[in-house]
Amino acid sequence: MKEFDYVIIGGGCAGLSLAYELEVNNKLKEKSLAIIENRNQYNRDKTWSFWKVFDHNFEDCVIKNWNNFTINTPGNSQVLKSNKYPYQSIDSGKFYKKINSKLSSNSNIVFFKNLSEINSVNSIIFNSVFGGETDKSKLWQHFQGIEIETQKNMFDDEVLNLMDFNCDQRNDVHFFYTLPFSKNRALIETTWLSNLKSKNLMDYDFQLEDYIKHNLGIKNYKVKFTEKGAIPLFYPSVNKDKKIINIGSAGGMTRLSTGYTFLNIQEHSRYLRKNLEKIDNKNIYHLGKKYEFLDKIFLKVLKNNPEKMPEIFHKMFQNSTDTVIKFLSNKSNIFEDLKIISKMPKIIFLKALINR
Ligand SMILES: Cc1cc2nc3c(=O)[nH]c(=O)nc-3n(C[C@H](O)[C@H](O)[C@H](O)COP(=O)(O)OP(=O)(O)OC[C@H]3O[C@@H](n4cnc5c(N)ncnc54)[C@H](O)[C@@H]3O)c2cc1C
Repeated sequence: MKEFDYVIIGGGCAGLSLAYELEVNNKLKEKSLAIIENRNQYNRDKTWSFWKVFDHNFEDCVIKNWNNFTINTPGNSQVLKSNKYPYQSIDSGKFYKKINSKLSSNSNIVFFKNLSEINSVNSIIFNSVFGGETDKSKLWQHFQGIEIETQKNMFDDEVLNLMDFNCDQRNDVHFFYTLPFSKNRALIETTWLSNLKSKNLMDYDFQLEDYIKHNLGIKNYKVKFTEKGAIPLFYPSVNKDKKIINIGSAGGMTRLSTGYTFLNIQEHSRYLRKNLEKIDNKNIYHLGKKYEFLDKIFLKVLKNNPEKMPEIFHKMFQNSTDTVIKFLSNKSNIFEDLKIISKMPKIIFLKALINR
């Protein structure tokens, strides 16, 4: 069986981002790479959105940039603006196409369906596939989104709606998210923060239909694309073999309080490429102990006080918009963290801190 210098298990967002980063920085001229991916073909399956707090390799896969966004809670609508950090959405279909076309020009890079097809005994292995069971009783961000096209112009495409809490909460945390790609096309998502046991929260089709009709006032539309997902808001079990470097969600690149992962994956890929010659598990990359600690407390508050979350998000965004964006994108300094913390309701956060 053929041996490879590097093996990437899982050719999804993290696996392909890393392969691309290595290829465009000439790290695979003299070295071989096997990518283990079990899907039969690459189609658009996700829309990755985030605040662009640094440059990345996929500007040409961006569907749209926004400088304005809203947060709606019952009785309040905050209109927020950031010229410095635009919110971006990436089309995963374009992303897969761009990367696969680049990788196909290097014969040192080969795709396989199973790890058993190669000899990986002496390879450096990067893994983006979860192992073990998924614990449904823990906290997840689960959602379904549809991209719709309307006959008439129905959307203000200059402003995205990050969170609209004007919907049925059913004793959990629920909001809608609307990304208007044009005046007659938008991705609308119903998002829950809850465990995965409550099947009654998963009537997503009904929730979307009801929201589009009653909250957005849209009666005629065509569904052009659907995406569905469940992001664990905890670190699931992964292969802890010292020889394996975990990447992507499996490598802890998801910010647990928000589910944002895409840009963290890009930063991690850059780090791995820069440190490739001396990479091992000793210099493992983290989003930062500070954010792990703060997110743990935040999620504890969320679990114990779901009904308070619309108010908590409203209060968080009373800070300067760029400060909140930096905090949510793991780029804040200690003074900015303190500003965010000072806006939070003291008693429930102290309780969560003590009962950690
Ligand atoms: C629908 C959806 C929307 C999201 N939207 C956002 C967003 O807007 N912003 C954001 O920051 N994050 C978002 N996320 C979270 C995160 O960015 C994505 O989940 C991202 O795809 C994670 O990258 P990954 O490489 O870790 O996992 P994946 O992209 O899922 O890649 C894992 C790959 O491994 C393959 N695989 C699985 N098992 C095996 C196996 N046994 N053998 C071989 N291959 C295998 C899969 O086919 C897949 O290609 C979203 C997640 C989902 C599910």
